[in-house]
Amino acid sequence: MSTWADTRPWLKTWGDLANKPYTLEKSTTLQDLATTVATHGDEEAISYYGFGLSWSEFDRYSTAFASYLAECGIATGDRVAIYDQNTPAFMIATYGIWKAGAVVVPLNPMYRGELEHIFADAEVKGLMVSKAAFLDRVAPYATSIPVVVLSDDRSFQVDGPEAIFSMFDALPGTPGQNPESTEVPNLPDFQAVVESRLDTDFTPAIPSPEDGAIVVYTSGTSGRSKGAAGTHGSVSSNSRYCVRTPTFEPGDGFLTLAPIFHITGFVCQFIAGVAGGARLILNYRFEPGSLLDLFLREKPTYMAGPATIYTAMLAHPAASAQHFSSFKRIMSGGAPLPEGLVNKFEDKTGVYIGQGYGLTETCAQVATVPPGLKAPVDPDSGNLSCGLPQPDTMIRILDDFGEPLGPNEIGEVAISGPEVVSEYINNEKATAEQIPGGELRTGDVGYMDEDGWLFIIDRKKDMINASGFKVWPREVEDVLYTHPAIQEAAVVGIPDEYRGESVAAFVTLQSGPEADEVTETAIIEYCREKLASFKAPRQVTIIDELPKTSSGKILRRTIRADAVAAAQEA
Ligand code: AMP
Repeated sequence: MSTWADTRPWLKTWGDLANKPYTLEKSTTLQDLATTVATHGDEEAISYYGFGLSWSEFDRYSTAFASYLAECGIATGDRVAIYDQNTPAFMIATYGIWKAGAVVVPLNPMYRGELEHIFADAEVKGLMVSKAAFLDRVAPYATSIPVVVLSDDRSFQVDGPEAIFSMFDALPGTPGQNPESTEVPNLPDFQAVVESRLDTDFTPAIPSPEDGAIVVYTSGTSGRSKGAAGTHGSVSSNSRYCVRTPTFEPGDGFLTLAPIFHITGFVCQFIAGVAGGARLILNYRFEPGSLLDLFLREKPTYMAGPATIYTAMLAHPAASAQHFSSFKRIMSGGAPLPEGLVNKFEDKTGVYIGQGYGLTETCAQVATVPPGLKAPVDPDSGNLSCGLPQPDTMIRILDDFGEPLGPNEIGEVAISGPEVVSEYINNEKATAEQIPGGELRTGDVGYMDEDGWLFIIDRKKDMINASGFKVWPREVEDVLYTHPAIQEAAVVGIPDEYRGESVAAFVTLQSGPEADEVTETAIIEYCREKLASFKAPRQVTIIDELPKTSSGKILRRTIRADAVAAAQEA
């Protein structure tokens, strides 16, 4: 039987590079943990500002938490949400929830009103909140959740950057009691809760690859946020692709730079680190200066995050090649990566930023730049490829009627493979529209060249229609990033009486002499020299900061809404 890989000879390159077969056997997240514990049990699993756990300890802690959940009545298939940043608590809770047979719902701790829909839609039965301070945010929406645990600032005293974070505390009363108020006096310390159960006789669940592991809420291509359901098999397969590279060795330092409540941080750092037996170096919150110190102290070998993080690091006056000397691989994902940034970063640090492409609905990456290779740049558009399809993954480019297009033809990117989620829970309509027959329609527009390199042009709905000319913001942003004075750029369409829409750019500047002299008109001129005139921005606004999501993606939609409002007021 021929596999997808047989139809795509370039995958052999990747397979050969990794010197491993490029069809992965089925596995599950818990099987992968068991393998790591068996082979690397005594090695350090987590390093968190002075606090550490070995893989064997991690295993015991998570089993202890599973026994606690079971005692609280959490049963197979129940959904348990985690409202936390990158902490050991998040990681132990995740495997504890899985060992209890339940499903993890990772939540962005900036969510507030959004929680009402998510808790109801997922019928959340349990919730882990990471800090007493966060209780105010969740309490109004959590009244019907039967089990709530709290990790607060007192457990596992560590030398954190500011406060001491984390770990669970049971709320007052018996396990399973719901908090009546946000007052949390006399909480038992998490260490006591978990450590008192370390010797409990508890047999963890053994989920199959087809059983549900996560429900991750995403706005997807449209509408209200939807719960994308990933299985233990899909999360496991994608995490194992991340560590099946020739450069990876167990014990490598994986910096969890991207938030682990987001799918990239969750699968490509956290779960991949578990699957490979890496050392997970936790970073609580992104701050370039303290991160540079952490590089020297912890010597990470791998990190992944959105391009904006690398822009910020590059802009830090202290950043030097020495800070990045321990890295074997640096990856960008979740958002476009401008070639201008890759070049500036490599010039300064000596490290090439690779790239991956994926979505929440694919449990993170489906295409990536294989280690050792550099992504090609489209000579016409300057667009940098975001990689080759990963083994076992089929990427097709479809026209408006769902018919496949050929090399270099532009259409919607569609994906099938073991990592694609099975459904949006409670939403047959969205599942049928966006995942027909198990193939995900991404809403991204792109093309593949003859060799299979994937180029993402933009989100379908971000296209600007200027007098009937299609302009993809990404292409204009790529040009702006090559300007020496520009640090970050976002391009949006704003209403224009004459053209329907016109191209507007919002930029932030680097510090330095170029930035002192640059003007908005000069930036427009710069773009006009490099782009067709209908693509060049008609308006450039220099601002101090671009709004971003907590996972670092530039919020084009917010920028556009503000620009439209400002235009209407004027
Ligand atoms: P999320 O579900 O939050 O991970 O967002 C997925 C979306 O991020 C995709 O549909 C793309 O629009 C965008 N994205 C992810 N990776 C890349 C990449 N390498 N280049 C361009 N866009 C990307």
